[in-house]
Amino acid sequence: MPPEVHSILGASAADRWMNCTPSAQLTAGMEDETTTFAAEGTAAHALCEWKVRKALKMRAGRRPTSDYWTDEMEEFTDDYRDFIMDLVGQAKQQCKDPVTLIEQHLDFSCYVPDGFGTGDFLLVADKELNVVDFKYGRGVAVYADHNPQMMLYALGALNLFDCLYDIEQVTMTIFQPRLSSISTWTITAAELYQWAEEVLKPKAELAAKGEGEFVSGSWCRFCKARNTCRARAESFLELAKMEFQPPALLSDEEVAEVMEKADELSKWANDVMAYAQAEAIENGKHWNGYKLVEGRSVRKFSDEAKVEAAAKEAGYTDIYNKSLITLTAFEKLMGKKTFADVLGQYVTKPAGKLTLVPVSDKRPEVSVNTVNDEFQED
Ligand code: SF4
Repeated sequence: MPPEVHSILGASAADRWMNCTPSAQLTAGMEDETTTFAAEGTAAHALCEWKVRKALKMRAGRRPTSDYWTDEMEEFTDDYRDFIMDLVGQAKQQCKDPVTLIEQHLDFSCYVPDGFGTGDFLLVADKELNVVDFKYGRGVAVYADHNPQMMLYALGALNLFDCLYDIEQVTMTIFQPRLSSISTWTITAAELYQWAEEVLKPKAELAAKGEGEFVSGSWCRFCKARNTCRARAESFLELAKMEFQPPALLSDEEVAEVMEKADELSKWANDVMAYAQAEAIENGKHWNGYKLVEGRSVRKFSDEAKVEAAAKEAGYTDIYNKSLITLTAFEKLMGKKTFADVLGQYVTKPAGKLTLVPVSDKRPEVSVNTVNDEFQED
């Protein structure tokens, strides 16, 4: 992977600086946050890159190593590689020599001052450009439809290829395996250029100068100012002041209105609490009415080898718990085909836990009657 360098108006933050144009300059001097999730994502990306390079018979170097490696990561990065190889296979049916690029630096500075980003995978075949982004997050599903990050990557890729290949159509895909989500959207190159001139450029100019209105929304989630941003706080305090009319019980419409706002409200409250706690722990900050205490801790052995020896010495032999290797380990051991032949009949994928989400969520709706019927058949 190329070294991590960030542009103030980078593609990954485009949803934020396009909706809240002053946010880019406000947060420009703030320290980058390093989170376990980000480090885990970087490890998964490195593994994806290596696997795709190998599958495409490109120079791949040594397999990357990481403390974040898990069976799950192995499986999801395999899925990504298989998805990419299917895409390349389909492209080869239309065009003899499709062009593939991995972890490509993409420059879209003709629309966004100093704007650049890195595209996970690009494929050009028969006047069509494919841009694929791998996301390892499992918090919120991200969709390709009108996604500004993907559109910026696509513009950067057009910048590289359009004069050579006369691209007419761009297909963007976000591959998010932990949410079983593959989201794809297609737009013509002409429409993309029009959006770049009419929507992107004016917003980027404001953002570069730190001008425009502070506007809070879902894009605040990864903003470095989110814990102490006044505009965000004000918007939530407005929500908390929602006024309900008599009678005494809330109507269905009012319950729906509360649900619509509660999710964002609770995320904001959690962000502020996490910020205050981190300040108290890391910088000794005192908050009126609050104190630091030790939470519950779980007992564990300091040295398992010594525990084993001491227990045996004391005459205890029944101290081992044999367990079967994992499903992924079996699949690796047998290979996908034999695994499917020998053990496929024993593999089940239980239905996920039912969750109430906003209608904008792209997952298909589940009918409660269907779920109950299935339950009764068991
Ligand atoms: S927290 Fe939200 S409203 Fe505040 S600066 Fe960041 S993006 Fe804008």
